[in-house]
Amino acid sequence: MKTPVAQRIQQLGEYLFAGLDRKKQEAIQAGLDVVDLGVGDPDLPTPSHVIEALAEAARRPENHQYPSYKGKRALRLAIAEYMKRRFSVDLDPDREIVVLIGSKEGIAHLSWALIDPDDLVLVPDPAYPVYAATARFCGGHVERMPLLRSHGFLPDLDEADRVIRSNEAARAKLMWLCYPNNPTSATATSSFFERAVTLAARHEMVVANDAAYYELYLDGVQPPSILQVRNAKDVAVEFYSLSKTFNMTGWRVGWAAGNAEVIGALGRVKTNVDSGVFGAVQDAALAALTGDWSHVVALRKRYARRRDRLMAGLERGGWDAIRPTATFFVLAACPNGMTSIEAVEWLLDRAGIVATPAVAMGPHGEGFVRFSLTAGDDRIEEAARRLEAMDLTEATRSPRTVKKP
Ligand SMILES: *Cc1c(COP(=O)(O)O)cnc(C)c1O
Repeated sequence: MKTPVAQRIQQLGEYLFAGLDRKKQEAIQAGLDVVDLGVGDPDLPTPSHVIEALAEAARRPENHQYPSYKGKRALRLAIAEYMKRRFSVDLDPDREIVVLIGSKEGIAHLSWALIDPDDLVLVPDPAYPVYAATARFCGGHVERMPLLRSHGFLPDLDEADRVIRSNEAARAKLMWLCYPNNPTSATATSSFFERAVTLAARHEMVVANDAAYYELYLDGVQPPSILQVRNAKDVAVEFYSLSKTFNMTGWRVGWAAGNAEVIGALGRVKTNVDSGVFGAVQDAALAALTGDWSHVVALRKRYARRRDRLMAGLERGGWDAIRPTATFFVLAACPNGMTSIEAVEWLLDRAGIVATPAVAMGPHGEGFVRFSLTAGDDRIEEAARRLEAMDLTEATRSPRTVKKP
């Protein structure tokens, strides 16, 4: 039988990491001491009071039945209070907040909530692959917004405006942003968010900010929320996650907040697709949001220390690395004009360090590699030592990638 796999799956891009994964496994099998700074998955455990809350909640029979698809009201109230406390934003817990099975679920389903075939979707490049992949699942037409270092890794909104105008046939429905940003670690200013909201309003489209890294600011300065912009709720939604703030990537819980109609449409997709987050996980999420935050304070300090250590190694080794003020990623320019893939292979061969080629997240990631700070302190220390000791003059473009004339 010719397996009847849908076009949308066949069209998915090549998995750029596959070859790298194989190389990593080979290196490990060859007995090399590999330092894996590739994936951004927190190495530290979930705070114990959150685990306790889950254990207790798991015993309550009410949590053994189907949960509410849009989240328990108690949790949505706690989220509204957090949003008020943290950003001074007022949200209606019944209409403007929906609990998600991790923010990735909501990000994916937002496409289904908004996009019809041939609609235009603006997606940053490089970016989390889910925005573009799911837009295409819905038949959307994706236009990339380059994130350039010379522009603070913020998209050029005048250019976005031109792109929308020149695609007259396609209706612009959605513009994705991600600040604090993965993979560049850039943060947005309030005035940038203001301009993004203005652009969205002008074209009657939605602007969605993926805010998974809001709480991971490293130098004491809280990044702004797009929902703080005046009239933001006319056009904006924002996605939040407990994954990175509370080391809860495995738990699958987050939320979206903002424009009531968009949140409502997202909820309607969910009623047709999933049945919400396990009630006990919701109770644990409530415990995380309303409980002791000293763990988060300590987590920021720890990532800041790791950043300082890795940056020191990179700088002493002659790398052109960008010091992040938020997230747990360090972006570095590839030495001597190497491509992202070449640099990542070279790092593994010469130093046993696994990094992510930023080009895997979009063509404009070319020329950069991303180091994740989610490895143990001793591993970061080891990576820093190796990076410092590398001889960058040995970094050369490999002949096999030189194009034949
Ligand atoms: C980690 C991450 C997420 C998602 O996390 P969930 O675990 O699904 O809440 C979303 N966006 C970006 C950019 C991320 O790095």
